[in-house]
Amino acid sequence: MLSSILLSASRSARLRQIVATTRCTRPVVDRFVAGEDLGDALGTVRELTAAGLTVTLDYLGEDVTDRAGATAVRDAYLRLLDMLGPEGLGTGAEVSVKLSAFGQALEKDGHDVALANVRQVCQAADVAGTTVTLDMEDHTTVDSTLAILDDLRKEHPATGAVLQSYLYRTEEDCHRLAVPGSRVRLVKGAYREPSSVAYQDKHQVDLAYVRCLRVLMAGGGYPMIGSHDPRLIRIAQDLASRYGRAAGEYEFQMLYGIRTDEQHRLVEQGERVRVYTPYGSDWYGYFMRRLAERPANLAFFLRSFVPS
Ligand code: FAD
Repeated sequence: MLSSILLSASRSARLRQIVATTRCTRPVVDRFVAGEDLGDALGTVRELTAAGLTVTLDYLGEDVTDRAGATAVRDAYLRLLDMLGPEGLGTGAEVSVKLSAFGQALEKDGHDVALANVRQVCQAADVAGTTVTLDMEDHTTVDSTLAILDDLRKEHPATGAVLQSYLYRTEEDCHRLAVPGSRVRLVKGAYREPSSVAYQDKHQVDLAYVRCLRVLMAGGGYPMIGSHDPRLIRIAQDLASRYGRAAGEYEFQMLYGIRTDEQHRLVEQGERVRVYTPYGSDWYGYFMRRLAERPANLAFFLRSFVPS
């Protein structure tokens, strides 16, 4: 219930304005967001990679409503990739993109605008010696995002995608994408979806996650386990050994600021761990989804409004 309210709030322009301009929210936001500018992002990449972690950087911005906005987001990624290569960070850090920020939702030609923008980012990623992963947004975007993935993989075969276990369709998508060279991040899913397309019960979502993970681990691609759930992490390690995958033939991915100790513990065990690291000033939607995932975060957030 609370989580549904927060997910609705994540789409509210009015609340966005209030929360984003309230100064006392800053320390709470800083827990989940690496900073507002490119310098902050690169500094965080250096810190995380020095600790044996790898990174996927997300320039925050979503639901862009015009072409100029989409171009601005694309250019922010191009500037980032321009820095990653020369700084020698291309081996430890890749980028994640949300196609809604690249123009996917534009009424006229949204799909094509997003494809043209993300293609340039993939080209820049090749030059920087790194890769791009397409985040997955709400269910109305899945067909378009997977079609863009297919197009991109013709020239940039290492482009990755995200699949969400809460969607009924995902097990089938896993079968199609569990092929050599294909990188798939499996997550539970962060959007409010109707029962016509998605499991509503957490346990069903977890069971679906395990079924999907089995398909990915058994297949020929590169599974990326995007979860903080201790049970799923254990199951992933069991499945990896059952299907003969050594560390490095799959990876764990977690969000910046969440279960940091577990990220380090897995690295110490010899696992590859990638930290999804968002940066930029448009943090509202991302931040609200993190609150929705965990009510304890909401209490922490509300306490920031109480003067000490
Ligand atoms: P949960 O059952 O939600 O959590 C398990 C445990 O993890 C909790 O008990 C708690 O200890 C900890 N935890 C989880 N979330 C939080 C939090 N917000 N704050 C503090 N502790 C927490 N979703 C999409 O729909 N599309 C995407 O492209 C996408 N990309 C992602 C990329 C990565 C690397 C990760 C890790 C997640 C991504 N997600 C994405 C979000 C995902 O769908 C889930 O909403 C999120 O990961 C919470 O699910 P969980 O598997 O961690 O398990």
